Amino acid sequence: MTTRLKHAFISALGFTLTAVLIACAGYEPVVVPEENDPQISVAESAPEPETTESDIESEMTESDTEQKIPEPDEPTSNDTEPDPTGKIMEVHFIDVGQADSTLIKLGDHAMLIDCGTDDVGTKVQYYLKNHGVDKLDYLILTHPDSDHIGGADVIITKFDIDTVFMSSFTKDNNWYEDLINALDYRKYGWNTPEVGSRYDLGDASFTIVAPNRVYTDPNNSSIALVLQYGDTRFLFTGDASEDAEADIVQNGLDISADVYKMGHHGSRSASAEDFLAKVDPKYVVISCSNGNDYGHPHEEALDRLKKYDPEIYRTDEQGTIIAYSDGKEVTWDHQPSTTWACGIQTLEEIPVIYNYITRSGYVEDTEGITYVLNTNSKRFHKPDCDSVTEMKPKNRQDVNWTRDECIREGYTPCGNCKP
Ligand SMILES: [Zn+2]
Ligand SMILES: [Zn+2]
Repeated sequence: MTTRLKHAFISALGFTLTAVLIACAGYEPVVVPEENDPQISVAESAPEPETTESDIESEMTESDTEQKIPEPDEPTSNDTEPDPTGKIMEVHFIDVGQADSTLIKLGDHAMLIDCGTDDVGTKVQYYLKNHGVDKLDYLILTHPDSDHIGGADVIITKFDIDTVFMSSFTKDNNWYEDLINALDYRKYGWNTPEVGSRYDLGDASFTIVAPNRVYTDPNNSSIALVLQYGDTRFLFTGDASEDAEADIVQNGLDISADVYKMGHHGSRSASAEDFLAKVDPKYVVISCSNGNDYGHPHEEALDRLKKYDPEIYRTDEQGTIIAYSDGKEVTWDHQPSTTWACGIQTLEEIPVIYNYITRSGYVEDTEGITYVLNTNSKRFHKPDCDSVTEMKPKNRQDVNWTRDECIREGYTPCGNCKP
């Protein structure tokens, strides 16, 4: 079974189990003030059109940007950060179960990195509202896995957003479709920021450090960034695995950080030795759910952290965690976790080569099937493409056509599996 298939299987099963996990996670009820009912104003809030294009291969023709993308600052080796001027930057690692969503607030400025799964979109919405956020300077969707973009349609619909950054990796599934529909509805464009570019968030700034190339895997395609406020630095890598981490190390950008949001929910596939040596973290935050089937955080990854002796904060044990930076020091709203507890992996690898796994986790025989069509998006895929596992059943059609026949019938090849 290929890594990609495994990932597909894990994603598929993860989806099925999310509802159960959410039900068991005991989320705090969200208090919804009546006056918080957001008004949706499409026309007024749509920023001035400006067309840019992602130079990284993308199958999305809709990615033509109608939104104003800020010009990144030219990074120079002597860059000095603006004075923090007494404001406190807050970094909220929101408890979204086995998923990611991080809110950064500094004065009137706010940025959200990832939106959790489909079923926590509203929770994230009210978390932001309850913390006084009604507009986002930036929404960054690190990569299109459902635990990162699932709730994005709610956030995009409910908040005015200046800039949307997304990975160039696209998917052909219903969460991605919902996300693109929400962007279209708000007339928001998006692009993939270039590695090395730097953007301001009030008196803080962030520098893009990944993705450094095109990958066949959505996790490795994650946008990664270093957020800097005064002397304090926070590193976010989405679900980038060791291949992408090696490329980050290779590109030579400074990734040293006080706070490292542990890559890929603490998976052994991330936080490689060489990478951690460059980060040298003082604090580590792990976003995962208690008892998740992947066994996150993995023992191997925690072991690699030990020599840095970081303070560890984890959403599975502590719920939402907030870090505060005054530009000099980072402080926390919780005591660090001292358990070093790893998860227990309950997902088994299924050694199937010619089969693929449907969204329900059921393994089907694919003999005789050459391609899988998405009758809605009019794309065709290899049967083992990630997108196939997440396609709406009503849009999916398995065929034994040749490639030419698919094209003749009006289907275009998927940009990821390249059938
Ligand atoms: Zn993830
Ligand atoms: Zn992922």
